Amino acid sequence: MPEKLVQIEPKPPRGDWRNPKVEFRKGAMCYSAAAKNLTYLGLPNARAWQPTDSDWKLPPDWKQIILNGMKDRLGKYRSFRLFMDICVRCGACADKCHFYLGSADPKNMPVARAELIRSVYRRYFTLTGRLFGSLAGGRELTEDVIKEWFYYFYQCTECRRCSVFCPYGIDTAEITMMGRELLNLIGCNINWVLEPAANCFRTGNHLGIQPHGFKDSIDFAAGEAAEITGLDIEVPINRKGAEILFVMPSADYFATPHYYTLLGYLMLFREIGLDYTVSAYASEGGNFGFFSSHEMMKRLNAKIYDEAKRLGVKWILGGECGHMWRVLHQYMDTMNGPADFLEVPVSPVTGTVFEHARSTKMVHICEFTADLIHHGKLKLDPRRNDHWNVTYHDSCNPARGMGLLEEPRYILNHVSRNFHEMPENTIREQTFCCGSGAGLGTDENLETRLRGGFPRANAVKYVKQKYGVNLLTCICAIDKATLPTLLEYWVPGVEVGGVHELLGNALVMTGEKERTTDLRGEPLATAEAPVGGESEAAHA
Ligand code: SF4
Ligand code: SF4
Repeated sequence: MPEKLVQIEPKPPRGDWRNPKVEFRKGAMCYSAAAKNLTYLGLPNARAWQPTDSDWKLPPDWKQIILNGMKDRLGKYRSFRLFMDICVRCGACADKCHFYLGSADPKNMPVARAELIRSVYRRYFTLTGRLFGSLAGGRELTEDVIKEWFYYFYQCTECRRCSVFCPYGIDTAEITMMGRELLNLIGCNINWVLEPAANCFRTGNHLGIQPHGFKDSIDFAAGEAAEITGLDIEVPINRKGAEILFVMPSADYFATPHYYTLLGYLMLFREIGLDYTVSAYASEGGNFGFFSSHEMMKRLNAKIYDEAKRLGVKWILGGECGHMWRVLHQYMDTMNGPADFLEVPVSPVTGTVFEHARSTKMVHICEFTADLIHHGKLKLDPRRNDHWNVTYHDSCNPARGMGLLEEPRYILNHVSRNFHEMPENTIREQTFCCGSGAGLGTDENLETRLRGGFPRANAVKYVKQKYGVNLLTCICAIDKATLPTLLEYWVPGVEVGGVHELLGNALVMTGEKERTTDLRGEPLATAEAPVGGESEAAHA
């Protein structure tokens, strides 16, 4: 019951914080990765084990493997070494992590999470640590430390909220990424990350949907969009010579509420006559390799440029997804680029040159749509969304990872008359994570997820009570998958949807039949006046 989880009692740690003992229990931990997935991905130490086992069956030389791995990464990643050295323990980040706020576990403070690995760094890689050990803040690397890393690095969603508040710019998400990479070296990984990654290698998407299944799903969605609008809607698949390759997270074509966002995309593309194709090979924009290691991220990401080249498109458009955009925006160009065979993206409808995508050649669907609206290219009837009182959750990666703050709001303010912001310290750069990103959106750790998502849910509750908000919009596939559970627990009565779902509702398409339902099949709102409180759209 919510009353039970909300009993959060911040207590100072008992005993020495350096004691690494952790208790693994169901609800608060993720299960280990299945051996078959490690084998498939070529990762070491494939075996049957669980975090609750006393013997984790580590390789005999596990300690040397970890220390060698640290040495290698300290040399390779300047940020890693800097983050190990420059923290002054000011505590500015301490109460900024949603996992700390929701659990009161002191080791969920970002500074403490980083200290788990920093203490080992001090002991083995600094002169004072080698000479004075624990007196210099060093800590021996033991099997219990490995278990503690596993527990806390899989209790961080790599959301980077803490980094916004650090005066030194320390990014604890990157430290978590390093921790997970090191754990990978000795075969300590979780199944909810490696199974989707293995599926991606096999079939191009996280769920392992094969090309004919992909085609069926896309055709089905096109049929539904046609039924709602009365128009012929066809979706080209693997079409060589198209101008644009459209890549989306696979959840858009196999899960709800994501699916309604897909309907919105298809209607938009039909209305503007976009010359595009989707791909059965690049059928996943998401990248669970990102939650495992840099190398895995690179291997999974490569298919997007490869497919763009094979199909001979000019540039790439990407759908509503979270970490997909952090990978595309921050890493793809240098990891698998430069994509010199592509052109600088230009909107075929408005002529806008997307200068910021000059290097990656990839544009976010919200940037693309906002530009269409800005140039008056879309006929919109926001009254069709009057049954929704809308708020917007800034998904961590598009917000903090690429600075996409205004475009979704611009669209929402044109497709809805009832848009209300959550409190300002919970949105934009300061947005609170859903609590289930970075591969933690599984069922076995539900208590951790509900605790981690508590600050976000609390802000939703505020706008529900103040404005009657009944729809939380977002542009991340993981959010769309996990926020419904979170809200059902903490704020029943608030649904979750995508920005392009509302766009699809409001879009008045040329020659369409009179619509009677929204994209969910619910009766279409026709009210003349906004429902609920005063709309911010009125002031836009
Ligand atoms: S805010 Fe930065 S410098 Fe201060 S304790 Fe946190 S990580 Fe260290
Ligand atoms: S990156 Fe996010 S989840 Fe990880 S420590 Fe920072 S605030 Fe917490």
